[in-house]
Amino acid sequence: MRPILRAEGLSKAFGRLLAVSGVNLEVAAGSIHAIIGPNGAGKSTLFDLLSGAKRPDRGRVYFLDKEITHIAVEERIRLGLSRTFQVPQVFTNLTARENLIIALEAAHSLSSYPWPRKSRFLEEEASALLERLGLEEQASRLVGELAHGDQRLVEIGLALCLRPKLLLLDEPTAGMSDAETWRTVQTLKSLHREEGLTLLFIEHDMAVVFGIADRVTVLHLGEVLAEGTPDEIAKDEKVQAAYLGE
Ligand code: ADP
Ligand code: MG
Repeated sequence: MRPILRAEGLSKAFGRLLAVSGVNLEVAAGSIHAIIGPNGAGKSTLFDLLSGAKRPDRGRVYFLDKEITHIAVEERIRLGLSRTFQVPQVFTNLTARENLIIALEAAHSLSSYPWPRKSRFLEEEASALLERLGLEEQASRLVGELAHGDQRLVEIGLALCLRPKLLLLDEPTAGMSDAETWRTVQTLKSLHREEGLTLLFIEHDMAVVFGIADRVTVLHLGEVLAEGTPDEIAKDEKVQAAYLGE
C-alpha cells in the first residue's frame, strides 16, 4: 500500500549523543503501525522529527508524497498530521468539554475550510467527540480531576479535533490500569475502523502492540533494528537480545 508517511535517513544528535540515526520508515495509509524499543531508543525524538517539534540534522520526511522536512508544526497539522505526547498536554483547570471546544476553535481557525463558527455547532461537535471517546459522564468535570486514563483520552480528543489523517500517539496507554488500557485500545480500533484514521504509536505494552498493530518497527540506540508484522518481530533474535540487554 502507498505510504502516508515516509522518513528517509533521519538523524538527530543532542551534543555527542546520536538520539536518532539514519532512520528509514514507511507507514502505510490505513495501517496501525507501532514503534517499540527500550527506553532511550529515540522513539519520542523520532516523533518530534516527524511532527515538526524538532528539526533533523539529516534526512527527509514525506507526508502524502509532499516533503515536509522543514515545514512548521501548524502546517503539518493542516495537512492532516497530528500527535499526542508522552505526558498528556491538556488544560487541567478546564472541563473535558471546554478542552475540546478550545481545540475545535483552534482547528477551525487553522483550517481554510469555511466552518460555521456558531457555538452551538462547536457544542455538537464536542458532544460527538465525547461520545466517541466514551467520556460523556466526564464532560463537565475538570480534566485535572479525571482519572489518568480519561486525561489521556481527552488528549486524544484534542488531537482528533484537528481532523488528522495520521495520528501519532506517544505511549497512549502509559500509566493506565488494565481497564483503561482496554478501553483506549477499543477506542483507537474504532477510530481506525470507522474514520479510516492511520495510527502510528509508540508503545511499551506488548499486549497492546499484538492486539492492534499491523506493522512494528523496533528502534534501538537510535537505529531501526527490525521491521515486520508483530509475529515476525516476536520471533526476531536481534529484538529479543535488545530487550534482554535493557
Ligand atoms: P525514547 O522515547 O525511546 O525513550 P528519547 O527519544 O526520549 O527516547 O531519547 C533518546 C535519547 O536522546 C536518550 O538518550 C535521551 O536521554 C536523549 N534526549 C532526548 N531528548 C533530549 C534533549 N532534548 N537533550 C538531550 N538529550 C536528549
Ligand atoms: Mg519516549
